[in-house]
Amino acid sequence: MPDLVTLGEAMLVVRGGVPGRPVPGSPAVLSFAGAEATVAIGVCRLGHSATWLGRLGTDTGGDLVVDGLRGAGVDVTAVTRDPDRATGLLLRHQRTADRVVVDYYRDGLAGSRLGPEQLPDGTIESARILHVTGITPALGDSARAAVHEAIGRARRAGVTVSFDVNYRSRLWAPDRAGPVLRELAGRADLVFAGADEAELITGARDDLGSALRKLGPGEAVLKRGAAGAAVVTADATVETAAVPVTQVDPVGAGDAFVAGYLSGVLDGLAPAQRLHRAAVCGAFAASTAGDWEGLATRAELLSFDGQDVRR
Ligand code: ATP
Repeated sequence: MPDLVTLGEAMLVVRGGVPGRPVPGSPAVLSFAGAEATVAIGVCRLGHSATWLGRLGTDTGGDLVVDGLRGAGVDVTAVTRDPDRATGLLLRHQRTADRVVVDYYRDGLAGSRLGPEQLPDGTIESARILHVTGITPALGDSARAAVHEAIGRARRAGVTVSFDVNYRSRLWAPDRAGPVLRELAGRADLVFAGADEAELITGARDDLGSALRKLGPGEAVLKRGAAGAAVVTADATVETAAVPVTQVDPVGAGDAFVAGYLSGVLDGLAPAQRLHRAAVCGAFAASTAGDWEGLATRAELLSFDGQDVRR
């Protein structure tokens, strides 16, 4: 019975080691990435249990993703392996000290073929939280159907549905994404969005938290990068500043933030406390390299600004 179930795409990552133009022989490290996988690892580091559902090839990349998730404590027993399609690949290099270039190789590969039939009976229904993102429905019709099926099962079973809008402009245009993401937000209990994403799906220009809540979710969390975050519930609006850190790699900060917030939900924290825990987790990710490698453990939640956000 996991605390959190999530589903999505995960890919093999090849990450260039030093700033410059990659050439044959350039140093690189192998890792893996996926927004939902990062959230799953994040909640595990904070002491909860998490299950990741997805589709990977039967190749070395797929093995690396499964091994990595399993090693981080995430339950991967229900992952589907596809013998006919490769695991997706993300090639990321630091072109200059200030410019990162990311190339994706994912179209038509195993991750995008996730479908409703890959959702095992009972897993979502037995969780406390289902977390989905707006990346998965952008991958194709079957992946979108899987997200809707997962939400339907969660709702019928009384499981809290968390949705991170995570609009990805490389995958689809705003006019196509907007209605799909709006519908998904409307089926969630808790929605996470940046300001641009909130504008995209609500059409509002201000009071974005309230506009998101009008779509259906009782709780809307606005991520504002280094400017902090806010949560709007039926009772109140709570804001937090970001925890000041030296930014190293902001990619993954949003997912780390979501993991911290959902950990706070699982622990029954009040909105202000869970927002603060989320901000600390986001700061950990922003000030370390890699999408998930720098995620905070529960013991480490003490270490930034002196405030104890473990409870
Ligand atoms: P991504 O999609 O790249 O993972 P996002 O756009 O979803 O990120 P952000 O708003 O960038 O999410 O970051 C989420 C939270 O992480 C912020 O609300 C903030 O609390 C924290 N955070 C992000 N960047 C920084 C930073 N440079 N310094 C401190 N905290 C940060």
